[in-house]
Amino acid sequence: KALCAAGIVAGLLAFFWKDPFNPVSLSGARVLLTGASAGIGEQMAYHYARFGAEIVLTARREAVLQKVRTSLVPHVQTFAMCECASIHPTLNIVPWGLDYLVLNHIGVTHFQMWVGDVEYTRWLMQVNFFSYVALATAALPTLEKNKGSLVVVSSLTGKVPTPFTTSYSATKFALDGFFSSLRHELIMQKRNVSITLCILGLIDTDSALENTRGKVYLTASPAPEAALAIIQGGATRVQEVFYPWWLKHVCCLWVLFPNDGGQVLRSYYNYSGP
Ligand code: NDP
Repeated sequence: KALCAAGIVAGLLAFFWKDPFNPVSLSGARVLLTGASAGIGEQMAYHYARFGAEIVLTARREAVLQKVRTSLVPHVQTFAMCECASIHPTLNIVPWGLDYLVLNHIGVTHFQMWVGDVEYTRWLMQVNFFSYVALATAALPTLEKNKGSLVVVSSLTGKVPTPFTTSYSATKFALDGFFSSLRHELIMQKRNVSITLCILGLIDTDSALENTRGKVYLTASPAPEAALAIIQGGATRVQEVFYPWWLKHVCCLWVLFPNDGGQVLRSYYNYSGP
């Protein structure tokens, strides 16, 4: 009787307590990851390798990519991307088959007041937005064949506008608009490709810390944790990942109270200009 009761309890627990992320599902998964030479992308490369995925890494600096590669287990290839992150170098590997396309790279970001540099905004749009659209478009047929996932790394500033991020914020809002609309269309057409948009707060990568030093009163979250949250979100095919988790509430509050929210938000930024 005791054994039977224990069995029932174990069965009920298994039914109600489901951990949706199963790392085993990533073993042998074919992943193309952009912006993998540093920061969150580099950390994602380490996680994917640990889970046994077959990864292709891209970034511009080949030598730095090679360094990441040599600290990983086998199954890793690297490809250099050109400055404007155009699809040509990476296109060739897509026909080999792909389960995950993780779009993570960004162009050099200026964390400052708008100074009227329209050309920079145009260039950043190319790197942070158009190249994502082009890579996703090239990969969609193979992702569909493999019931794969498209993972797009965005930012809080792609949901809620923040100071010092005019051009960057525009590229991230564009990603939300494009890929959230595309998600609707894929569902309507019953095409089995998931799209996960990742909304991140300040993360302690070298570039982000350098950019924001002395300009924000915010604590940065750890890059390895952010990387894992992105990977889990892609693997479980959720529509949106918020890291840290409470950013979801920030976004909801922003929608409900945009004016008060804006005032609170500005208090986290240090403006000591003229
Ligand atoms: P990093 O600056 O640390 O890394 C950027 C990566 O992109 C590098 O691998 C870099 O490699 C590559 N890259 C840079 N320029 C280009 C280019 N022109 N073409 C192709 N690749 C390029 O960024 P993070 O790790 O901080 O950010 C990763 C993602 O997370 C981004 O999408 C970012 O918007 C998002 N995010 C980050 C936050 C943070 O606080 N760190 C906050 C919110 C969102 P290489 O120079 O070799 O090309």
